[in-house]
Amino acid sequence: MIGIGVDIGGTFVKFFVLNDKQEVLEHLKVETDYSNGPDGFVSQIGNFINQIRQKYAPQPVSVAIGAPGDVDPVTGILRYNPNLKFDHVDNWPLAQQIYQQTGILPALVNDATLAAWGVYESLLHRQGTNVLVVTLGTGVGGGLILNQELYQGSHGTAGELGHMKIADPATGPLCGCGARSCLEAFVGTIGIKRRVREAIAQHPQSILAKLLQGQDDFKIALVSQAAKQGCPEALKIWQDTGRYLGIGIANAVLLLDLDTVVLTGGISGAATYFMPALQDVLNHQQIKTPFERLKLVVSKDPDMGGTGSALYALHQALKDVSPCK
Ligand SMILES: [Zn+2]
Repeated sequence: MIGIGVDIGGTFVKFFVLNDKQEVLEHLKVETDYSNGPDGFVSQIGNFINQIRQKYAPQPVSVAIGAPGDVDPVTGILRYNPNLKFDHVDNWPLAQQIYQQTGILPALVNDATLAAWGVYESLLHRQGTNVLVVTLGTGVGGGLILNQELYQGSHGTAGELGHMKIADPATGPLCGCGARSCLEAFVGTIGIKRRVREAIAQHPQSILAKLLQGQDDFKIALVSQAAKQGCPEALKIWQDTGRYLGIGIANAVLLLDLDTVVLTGGISGAATYFMPALQDVLNHQQIKTPFERLKLVVSKDPDMGGTGSALYALHQALKDVSPCK
């Protein structure tokens, strides 16, 4: 059995090929092909699948595609994708078009959801029954494993942790989605940078202000650097980030009685600075048991999207042929 994972992005498409021992046979990152419209893009993916199938014949091939945006995993329709720069491709029957070209019907799944499956298999080795994987970056994504299976919800949109409201939606900060007071507006890169700029304006002599002097845009790692030097403003930014994130995670744990939460993505690199405040929020919950038993893990692997897709392709295929099904 060969598992092919395809991670669709607005700039790059990543391909991962695994054998049934989960060993990586190939991985490839290519620029997203816009030159021949949506049909050319489908061919770009279909051609790769066909090449891999020929190369590893007669082994059967299973494919999973991860896409950002609004995905219908049942019909394989990409309802809306904010990243791909094609006109008029809302409600795009992508899985069906790949099938027409390759004869293989791929699983089409939200990319954060497949990244969560990658974490569940590679990092947790399927330990844990009910798991939330939080991806912390420009956006804040989530993926759920419930009862040891990927949970996508009724419409494929489960795990949208980043757009849970953690404050009054009438007055809180604006999120990239257009709403206010989403978790992402507080702990996504844009929200953290907003608080950094506010702190610099109020404390122009701080270590943070000096480190970022003259920079219109900056890397979040510099906020960690300032925190490492003991800058109170930088430490407060991370404390607030941990507190907000703690509120979001506590809400998810209360709703789903999770046993494991994994933090991944670029921002999780600053866990040293935000974790105490996050843990403090969890420690102060009144329903104690799930929080006392919760396993909180920080993943050092920044990108599980591609491998997660390929692992999920294998999982689906092996589940379909299992006599225990
Ligand atoms: Zn939002």
